[in-house]
Amino acid sequence: MAKFEVIGCGVSYMVAGPDGTQVGGPYYNHDQAENAREDFERSAKMKKRRCMTCDDLFMSEGAHNRMCDPCRGNRNIFEGAV
Ligand SMILES: [Zn+2]
Repeated sequence: MAKFEVIGCGVSYMVAGPDGTQVGGPYYNHDQAENAREDFERSAKMKKRRCMTCDDLFMSEGAHNRMCDPCRGNRNIFEGAV
């Protein structure tokens, strides 16, 4: 699992990636740095998958997420119609 860290450096903060290199910043308050860290962790978990319905590539949030957004929307319409 990807791990990002907020690191204080002098008066500012930065976000370091799993390999210790800076990926974001500088940020001038800790909350902002924490928010940025969460964004990096979220996007690191996303990866390209093929939609099980239309076979398009899309950015998946994880193993539970196998359908692209349009197909997920369509499925709800179909379920409503049955
Ligand atoms: Zn699809």
